[in-house]
Amino acid sequence: MSGSLSILTGMSPDAHPPNDEANSLASYAERQAELQALLEQERAKGGLAAALMALYRQQLDCGFIRDPLDEVRRFSFEGRAYAADHFRVQFNPARARRFGGVGPARPPEGVEVINGGCFLCRENIRWQSRGLEMGYALPKPLDRYVAWMNPFPLAPAHCILASHRHEPQHWHGQGKELVQLAGELIDLVDQLPGWIGFYNGVGAGASIPGHLHHHLMPRPGGQAAFPMEQSFAAFGRDGWTSKVYPMAFMHWHGEVASLKTRLRPWLMAWHDRVEREATANIIVLNPGEGEPLQVVFVPRHPARSRAEGLGGMVGAFEALGEIICSSPEEFDRIERGEIDYSTIAGMLSQVSIAP
Ligand SMILES: [Zn+2]
Repeated sequence: MSGSLSILTGMSPDAHPPNDEANSLASYAERQAELQALLEQERAKGGLAAALMALYRQQLDCGFIRDPLDEVRRFSFEGRAYAADHFRVQFNPARARRFGGVGPARPPEGVEVINGGCFLCRENIRWQSRGLEMGYALPKPLDRYVAWMNPFPLAPAHCILASHRHEPQHWHGQGKELVQLAGELIDLVDQLPGWIGFYNGVGAGASIPGHLHHHLMPRPGGQAAFPMEQSFAAFGRDGWTSKVYPMAFMHWHGEVASLKTRLRPWLMAWHDRVEREATANIIVLNPGEGEPLQVVFVPRHPARSRAEGLGGMVGAFEALGEIICSSPEEFDRIERGEIDYSTIAGMLSQVSIAP
């Protein structure tokens, strides 16, 4: 299988932008169409996860994914103040390079930059990645989305599900749009046993607020349950309590239809209460093996996306209890013993608001 995908790898990462723009556009469209057909075959055989894993391997082989995650170091800090028995840190120095972008800052002659060079608009993606980045357009009913691999992933096969259209990430004060976002995420993750999906609201860790997107990734291997997951059992019944976890959140579990039925009135009521003021993280976990889906809603203050301490930005992944950081200064703080269970819990509680 990887043999058939490797013919689509295109240029090496060091290649110069092509001179003949028309030829380059045609060849990119052709390679993208060929890849789409191969990924459709993978999906027919092994489901959505098989298609996304094939896209991951193709994007790694062609050099678009710049971080094979081989420099990652993990730290775990034990404690007892909450239902979670640890919080953890993923230190990944490669992620510090992501601010340098993945390609040229300017397009070749004759190419128009659209939507301010948005990294999730297909027209920009081609020249920004020098033709390397290709996606997988999802079939109906999720055909509003294209899967693109994250060049600096938080886990192998970490992908971004971006809308075809350039439309904002936020739900614009529309409760039914919030319900739709949560429902789409549930539908997506339901097709991916063993995967996690999340949505970062604007001001709650969204790095590209101008373009609607969700994150998807297989549950990272060889690790304990996320600290937030350990706290689910402490709920007893679905509901919220402040002693369980340093961030307030709502939690539901069950089958797709039942989840949607229960989430809809709760989200509409929450939305009416907070109007445009609040933002949120939505997380859906699919444990696999026929276990029910887990859905988490973390209400957030839109002006509080950063916490003092490691990493800074707190998005859905951090809310699960794993802080991502990449700078040498942060590594030194860990080495000096300045980070522990309570400092991480403190960071999460700084950005939390009551539901
Ligand atoms: Zn865009």
